[in-house]
Amino acid sequence: MCMNLSDDVKFIKGVGPKRAAALAKLNIRTVEDLITFFPRTYQDRTKVTKISDIVFNNQYCIFGKIKNAYSNNVSKNISLFIADISDGSRDISAVFYRKTSPYSKYDIFASMRQNFQPGKYVYIYGTFEYKFARRQITVEDYEIVENATDIPKTFNKLVPVYDLTSGISQKNMLTYTTAAVDTAAHLYPDAISDNPKYKTRLMPIVRAIKQLHFPSSLEEAELARKSFALQEFLLMQIILTKARQKNTVKQKTNSYKVTREFLTPFKNKLKFEFTKGQKKAINEIFSDMTGPKGMNRMLMGDVGSGKTVVALSAILLAIENGYQAAIVAPTEILAEQHYLTFKNMLEGLNIKMELVTSSCLRTKKKRDEILNDIETGKTNIIVGTHSVMEERVKFKNLSLAVIDEQHRFGVMQKAALLAKGSVIDILMMTATPIPRGLAMTMYGEISISVIKELPPNRIPIKTFCFSEQQAYTEALEEISKGNQVFIVYPLIDESDKTELKSAVKEAETLAATVFKNNRIALLHGKMSPKEKNDIMQRFKNKEFDVLAATTVIEVGIDIPNATMIIIQHADRYGLATLHQLRGRVGRGSKQSYCILVSNAKGQNSAQRLAIMTRTNDGFKIAEEDLKMRGPGEFTGTMQHGFPEFKAGDIVKDVEIIEYTKNIAQDIIKNDPTLSLPENSKIKQLISSNKYCELSKIIQVG
Ligand code: ADP
Ligand code: MG
Repeated sequence: MCMNLSDDVKFIKGVGPKRAAALAKLNIRTVEDLITFFPRTYQDRTKVTKISDIVFNNQYCIFGKIKNAYSNNVSKNISLFIADISDGSRDISAVFYRKTSPYSKYDIFASMRQNFQPGKYVYIYGTFEYKFARRQITVEDYEIVENATDIPKTFNKLVPVYDLTSGISQKNMLTYTTAAVDTAAHLYPDAISDNPKYKTRLMPIVRAIKQLHFPSSLEEAELARKSFALQEFLLMQIILTKARQKNTVKQKTNSYKVTREFLTPFKNKLKFEFTKGQKKAINEIFSDMTGPKGMNRMLMGDVGSGKTVVALSAILLAIENGYQAAIVAPTEILAEQHYLTFKNMLEGLNIKMELVTSSCLRTKKKRDEILNDIETGKTNIIVGTHSVMEERVKFKNLSLAVIDEQHRFGVMQKAALLAKGSVIDILMMTATPIPRGLAMTMYGEISISVIKELPPNRIPIKTFCFSEQQAYTEALEEISKGNQVFIVYPLIDESDKTELKSAVKEAETLAATVFKNNRIALLHGKMSPKEKNDIMQRFKNKEFDVLAATTVIEVGIDIPNATMIIIQHADRYGLATLHQLRGRVGRGSKQSYCILVSNAKGQNSAQRLAIMTRTNDGFKIAEEDLKMRGPGEFTGTMQHGFPEFKAGDIVKDVEIIEYTKNIAQDIIKNDPTLSLPENSKIKQLISSNKYCELSKIIQVG
């Protein structure tokens, strides 16, 4: 049969429409998705253990002759099927457990009875244990062979272990991937191994795909992973290089002079002095901006270190010189907050500011006016969300883009912003530091400014792990002092209706019980921006004592009178997120508290939360988080906007990323449109469905 990579997975032998629907839950929709659905790990069945050598309660592969087999009802609900196996060294019982119903006449052991015929041979993978004074192995998988010398299909080798979903067993998955790899792996484009210029010591892609599923050794599997990763990273780097090139090939045309037309009145209006770190950062930024090359700078500073006013200083320098500047935040509520803060700080100055979020752009009349004012240059400062990066937003002379909470944006979103072409100076701000080497390989040559200290007179937040009841007692105590309290509920996915409902319900219960004598409000991501803003404003005006919220308040919100944050189900968050959440309090001059509530049993989660009680240093926390959890959370956001890497690991594979970055630059230099025959496979891959959105950004294909 003739197959294409883009064919529906239901056409793979054995799959069919019903199983295809189950596979879709694992994001497997096409033949390509299936062949690149690589195993999570491998079960080592290369070694068969002599039965007499089995002592520990562990997993083993054994091989022996079937002596006899029988079933046994141990209770009303549980039946056993037992086969006694001998390999000459000793005997052992191989056991299958099955739940049964006393009313069912169906013989659940029919297939075992048929397979386990005395005299035949069997390979078994399972767990050894002593039960009822019997040496037994609980069977996870088996394979019968007629003769002792027959070669088994699923033993004496590494067996892939796949992620599963309901309706799909390991055996199903193995059948499907085997069929898919057999019929279609050879179709997968190989972008570089045929290219004489970039011959690597790695495997050709087709072989890598086969070895990733069915490796001949763990070493080969790792080599295969790296080979496939190399191609994935090469595509990423080609896209990033093209995006960057659109920005940097142009000579910098912006020129700035520090006239202080806006900077001086802004500074005079501030109610505080800049800290040393802020001053240093501003100097570094100004010297980049007034220098000959485009700025590509990352400003790192812990939560509450005062990055916003640093950004605003840079923005004012751009405005003083007649340019436009934009600041982009990851959520509407944070964008709105910036908008209000700026408005406040720039009162009386002749500066036009505009908020650009998807909800601002919803009505046509307003949208036309906003977009028109930006395009004609009437608007000086654009504050917004991802919406700012959309194609329809056209600037007259944008010269500076600030990306706030940059860890919440992916590399591709940044690439999209860079590709706006007219943008030259980029300032990224983050409270979640990224290892420098990694940042360089992902973002190109970047400079880094660090704000080390917090503004003076901040009292360090005290953090505790308490029970829910204890947390509420503390909350009531704070409220009695006239302070305000946040209660945060985790919503892993803001669109998950059942989770949202339970958060809302919990908050309602609290309002009727613990806080029945207090004023409590609820805030969640599904509310309209106007509703959210309204509630935040009223909370700020002290109309409520308690604000129960989903994680929409994660970043940036500034309410100095809130002195306590209670984080429910704290174990479900990464430490970086917990630290961000904690930063919502401690913004005034009063002692503030963060209370972590968790019912999780595991030692690991207790240890993780304990780190939070020990330190307020975001950089230390990020380090510990990386150590304990691996790069999961942060690679996720870094990759955001880019198709998921099937084999690549952006933390482990820094060397490969660095290598592909160099190749990518070389390729783009020699063949900017990817038209040479040697680059045709790259072009084919980049123009495929998966990268379609991105290739539009950089106009490839
Ligand atoms: P982040 O770095 O987390 O974005 P913000 O910029 O939101 O922090 O600043 C946190 C709070 O500290 C704001 O209320 C801001 O006005 C205030 N702030 C910033 N710089 C100073 C300073 N030098 N002295 C006193 N307060 C400051
Ligand atoms: Mg901030």
